Amino acid sequence: MPEGHTIHRLAEDYLAAFGGRGARVTSPQGKFGDAAALLDGSVLTGTQAHGKHLFLGFGPGRWVHIHLGLFGKVGFGATPAPPPTDTVRLRLVNDTAYVDLRGPTTCALITDDEKHAIHDRLGPDPLRPDADPAAAYRRVARSRTTIAALLMDQKVIAGVGNVYRAEVLFRHGIDPYRAGKDLGAAEWDAIWADLVDLMREGVRNNRIDTVRPEHTPEAMGRPPRVDDHGGEVYVYRRADLPCHICGGEISTADLAARNLFWCPACQRS
Ligand SMILES: [Zn+2]
Repeated sequence: MPEGHTIHRLAEDYLAAFGGRGARVTSPQGKFGDAAALLDGSVLTGTQAHGKHLFLGFGPGRWVHIHLGLFGKVGFGATPAPPPTDTVRLRLVNDTAYVDLRGPTTCALITDDEKHAIHDRLGPDPLRPDADPAAAYRRVARSRTTIAALLMDQKVIAGVGNVYRAEVLFRHGIDPYRAGKDLGAAEWDAIWADLVDLMREGVRNNRIDTVRPEHTPEAMGRPPRVDDHGGEVYVYRRADLPCHICGGEISTADLAARNLFWCPACQRS
């Protein structure tokens, strides 16, 4: 599943390609057909992301709410647009660009009130300027759940996925199995600040890089990572490989229904 930086990047890309101009709005697959007919010809006035939720604004009180889920994909291209396949849920087209949305978990036309309700059930998002990290810490500090699971809980903090949770815990030397209630406020503040920086860089580069300058392939004289997720990381999908810092083996285990990766030597309780 894409992490929050991907959704924020999509918000920027939709706005750059379609903002301020009228667009043809269609649903070649038909599932969004009625809403697409209502929106056809209207102007994309703004876009937002909150965690893994994307919102496309088409004038007052009209938002297209998109959640990609596990299988959703967005593809941009230049016009002329090719004939759409019948898997395209939502297509926008203008004079210069088109964008196709396929396979989302959610693609729905919603009101302001419905949008507020979505924001209300999500935790703060490190990529949003209105985010309040203290609100997340209040939930973390009273929980017996592991910090690795809390970081994946979208009600606690929105937008962090499996890569960022593993990497940020490694960068701060924190045992992923430590309970939330045992995490100090200063530790949380450091994690939050780091997530803001890492995820902003993720939006800029459209990929996740988490290694510090002294641990890049060039600095360490090691070959670059080969992985379809791209990006240089410390632990994510590096099970049984040597840790870039201590040389010990990276471990993996199932946690919160996803594979967790960590270095048992560098991350102590
Ligand atoms: Zn290590």
